[in-house]
Amino acid sequence: MIEENVAALLEEISRGNPFGEKVTLVAATKTRTEEEVRRAIRAGICAVGENRVQEFTKKYSAFEGAEAHFIGRLQTNKVKYLIGKAALIHSVDRDGLAREISSLAERKNAVQRVLIEVNAGGEESKGGFSAEETLFALERISALPALKVCGLMAMLPLSEDEALLSRLASGMRKLYEEARERFEGIEILSMGMSGDWRLAIANGSNMVRIGTAIFGARNPV
Ligand SMILES: *Cc1c(COP(=O)(O)O)cnc(C)c1O
Repeated sequence: MIEENVAALLEEISRGNPFGEKVTLVAATKTRTEEEVRRAIRAGICAVGENRVQEFTKKYSAFEGAEAHFIGRLQTNKVKYLIGKAALIHSVDRDGLAREISSLAERKNAVQRVLIEVNAGGEESKGGFSAEETLFALERISALPALKVCGLMAMLPLSEDEALLSRLASGMRKLYEEARERFEGIEILSMGMSGDWRLAIANGSNMVRIGTAIFGARNPV
């Protein structure tokens, strides 16, 4: 099952996005066992994304052979567990978090790669900078010494309204292109999950984070 799902997804995204860019598949591993994670990596997954720091740490050895990303909401006091281990932190959603990552990375002589999280749908329940603030946030955060901002991350709202989702996703692509024009090293737009990854790629995402469509439905936790 996992093997077939990974193969089918890799095949489909191998066509890239309409901007001629390669699309990276990140397997979202929250609630999955180490054995499931290892199977996905053996099946060809090159990057995994975990949501909780404790699970990231516990499963870290199972991530061998893939890049380990952190994609969940991150508390400032848990940053220390990720530095030196997370190849990319997708969820930088506030200045204080960015400063803490930079200061801990600096202490370890490391440079932490991060994405700036954007609240694309302006949802109360979600973290991230508003679209309007994002370029200002990028300016402040990319000035920090031990961070490398590689792009933007967005979660689209849960909605059946395809027109709305396409509008938000293409708005994110525009924001990403503005960011890329103004700042060095911007190359990732992380957008799209099991329910909306095709729409996200069609609108210019180049990194999708997929859990359910690889591993099956999650048990409620
Ligand atoms: C769980 C999660 C995903 C994947 O969700 P699915 O719907 O299972 O594909 C992607 N991104 C983030 C931040 C997540 O928490």
